[in-house]
Amino acid sequence: MTTPRRSATPSSSREHAALTGAVTAPNYAPLPVVVAEAHGAWVTDVDGRRYLDCLAGYSALNFGHGHPVLLRAAREQLERVTLTSRAFYNDRLGPFARDLAALAGMELVLPMNTGAEAVETAIKVARRWGYQVKGVPAGRAQIVVAAGNFHGRTTTIVSFSTDDSAREGFGPFTPGFTVVPYGDADALRAALTPETVAVLLEPVQGEAGVVVPPPGYLAAVRQACTDAGVLFVADEVQSGLGRTGATFACELEGVVPDVYLLGKALGGGIVPVSAVVSTREVLGVLTPGSHGSTFGGNPLAAAIGHAVVGLLETGEYQERAAKLGVQLRDRLEGLVGHGVQAVRTRGLWAGIDVDPALMTGRAACERLAGRGVLVKDAHGQTIRLSPPLVVEPDDLDRAVDALGAVLDEAGR
Ligand SMILES: *Cc1c(COP(=O)(O)O)cnc(C)c1O
Repeated sequence: MTTPRRSATPSSSREHAALTGAVTAPNYAPLPVVVAEAHGAWVTDVDGRRYLDCLAGYSALNFGHGHPVLLRAAREQLERVTLTSRAFYNDRLGPFARDLAALAGMELVLPMNTGAEAVETAIKVARRWGYQVKGVPAGRAQIVVAAGNFHGRTTTIVSFSTDDSAREGFGPFTPGFTVVPYGDADALRAALTPETVAVLLEPVQGEAGVVVPPPGYLAAVRQACTDAGVLFVADEVQSGLGRTGATFACELEGVVPDVYLLGKALGGGIVPVSAVVSTREVLGVLTPGSHGSTFGGNPLAAAIGHAVVGLLETGEYQERAAKLGVQLRDRLEGLVGHGVQAVRTRGLWAGIDVDPALMTGRAACERLAGRGVLVKDAHGQTIRLSPPLVVEPDDLDRAVDALGAVLDEAGR
């Protein structure tokens, strides 16, 4: 066994990366950047180098690092009470849930912590709703999901992943899921049976590389679910809360699902906060003792989540994402055919397919980091861009310039 000596205090980026690599499980391959501080859209590493954060914690940092309103809400709550458990009430959960439900046009909120927990919760609720309300025979409930999905990392969720690296060695898997191609409404409709209780989809597939479905797809899914008496569960953990230029990505298609799953940005980048937001008919199938979470709905999370809802109520961030999204799309489209094979955008969110003749997505991310821009690759050739919604237009331009320079360097 080799454990680094306690006395060897790391100081440089290289030393921190080596220490972290030596003492944490190898389930990540981080870029060699060691962040020590961050404000707004900018992070500083332990060596004092500054980077524009164009990943924003996979959209958990939609409002940027250390947003003053969110920090104030967190600080004030830290001094009052941070955890009660749901064995008691706290004075933060009610106002948070009321305003989040109103923001979503729904009735009830079930607070959890991580996105995966929100997904797991929705699976349980949809199944129970199927048995109690729809009348599906016991143990027969089916949930239809899409190929290329990303809904989290639990055993049940990876059971219906189509990504081998997420599943290999983790079986046996949970039954009860049917996978259909993403973006094909006819295939989805054909997969619905009397035992189907829900369709679970991302309105834009984030981890798949910002895959935007064809126009009309979400509306057709909505109609198919309504016709078949099936719940439409929209996983907006990443697409929701401003990223796409609307509060919810479903809105852009004029679609209202039966259930929203929220997470990531709901915690303001400060604490994990997730939620299942739906109607009384759906969430009302739960009874005391049937589901829960030690930390879900804690007053610190609720205070921060409430402040996040407050930021979204003005529409300012959604508008900013829409406006900056046009700028981003226009700039990125200029790269297509010049080292970039395809670009997909939705608001301030982009998937960029780098020409494999030039370099891998990973290599592009490394070279961008060398130029002071942090992004993350997805599935080999794709780089995904999701800067904080507070990013300055000039900085956004500079990030695209840096990508152009990286492609030039590779001889596009
Ligand atoms: C990130 C993500 C999740 C999982 O969230 P965790 O907080 O990492 O568990 C679920 N669904 C989607 C669409 C996501 O992007």
